[in-house]
Amino acid sequence: MEKGKSKSVFAQAQSTIPGGVNSPVRAFRAVGGEPIFMESASGAYMTDLDGNQYIDLINSWGPMILGHGNTLISDAVKEAVTKSLSFGTPTYAEVEMAELICSMVPSIEKVRMVNSGTEATMSAIRVARGYTKRDKIIKFEGCYHGHGDSFLIAAGSGAATMGEPDSPGVTRGTAQDTLTVAYNDMEALKATVAENKDEVAAIILEPVAGNMGCVTPVDGYLQAMRQLCDEEGIVLIFDEVMTGFRLAPGGAQELYGVTPDMTTLGKIIGGGMPVGAYGGKTEIMDMVSPKGPVYQAGTLSGNPVAMAAGLQMLRFLNENRSLYQQLESTQQKIVAGFKSNMDKLGLNYSINAVGSMFSIFFTDQSVKDFETAKSSDLEVFGKYFNAMLERGVYLAPSQYETLFLSTAIGEAEIEKIVTSNYEALKEIH
Ligand code: PLP
Repeated sequence: MEKGKSKSVFAQAQSTIPGGVNSPVRAFRAVGGEPIFMESASGAYMTDLDGNQYIDLINSWGPMILGHGNTLISDAVKEAVTKSLSFGTPTYAEVEMAELICSMVPSIEKVRMVNSGTEATMSAIRVARGYTKRDKIIKFEGCYHGHGDSFLIAAGSGAATMGEPDSPGVTRGTAQDTLTVAYNDMEALKATVAENKDEVAAIILEPVAGNMGCVTPVDGYLQAMRQLCDEEGIVLIFDEVMTGFRLAPGGAQELYGVTPDMTTLGKIIGGGMPVGAYGGKTEIMDMVSPKGPVYQAGTLSGNPVAMAAGLQMLRFLNENRSLYQQLESTQQKIVAGFKSNMDKLGLNYSINAVGSMFSIFFTDQSVKDFETAKSSDLEVFGKYFNAMLERGVYLAPSQYETLFLSTAIGEAEIEKIVTSNYEALKEIH
């Protein structure tokens, strides 16, 4: 596979961009290679600067659930662009967006639009603190909630990939207000809440974790957490930046039947444009300025072009609910293919999957938290990643990232992914 153009652009990029990329995981550090620079994409495929094609199993880290180049969305964007790129005033599209989100996501009665998942989570904990008049928050080891200071403690995703789960630059004071607990361990959570009685404002979690690879909640975990928060007056925040509109039209909270007090959204909600949102119970959201005293604002929040893309995406998902079964069936075929490949090769690696999210971990332990996710052999992961890339299948360049499927992946792509998995596993063992 010729990669000369990507190589030379990466060399050029490093003189003006830290590490040559605008988000760390893109640099391929964890897989011992150099990043591929993309030029275009269509449906299930991305094409790089050298003309190589790849089946895309990241889908822009989640947003492109319908695959690339969906004309419904690009036409809506083109139309919005003709009116204005940005007004900085309220627009009707924002009202339509708010109504649609409230109708789709069970926990959301009122919602505020922002520009990224990071802004959504940062704002949500500020509101939870303002509402409860408490300072501490609890997060889970290996969960990632964007790069807000409070969350870069035992963080997953790129922070874990780069070996920086506790980032320098976060003050000791901020770190002290973030308590961390192992995912899926209810007893540890109860103990931490008891030790910090009446001090915890919010518990924030990914209801299905995607940032330590894909890790699902054990039976009853989310329900027990809901009950604990009710008993202790703690605001339960589901960070559904990844899972929102992906695992069901109403996200993981719909799939698992547990309603949090607040929800943070990103990725799919923008249809590929930079959008985030946070919302929840009216009583809590009415704390937000100008209705209430908790300040949060944004020059480009509710941007009309971003709203046009997001509205089109959400309307499509809302009206075509059978696509969630299609996505799940694609995942099941791929996972069944991988398991059969491993049987043939005498391998016993762990696979976690739900809906259109899945991960293979290079360990025989079942992965239920960050500790077990870290038992995956990262050297083997790196070899596997590169062997798949050479065969034209683009995976997340880190073990600590889930894969995302799109509806553009059809039978031909499934066959190619499964065959490539067999050849790659065979080659690296
Ligand atoms: N929350 C979760 C669960 C995420 O996966 C991410 C990003 O991957 C974020 C928050 C941060 O979103 P953004 O990268 O849009 O700031």
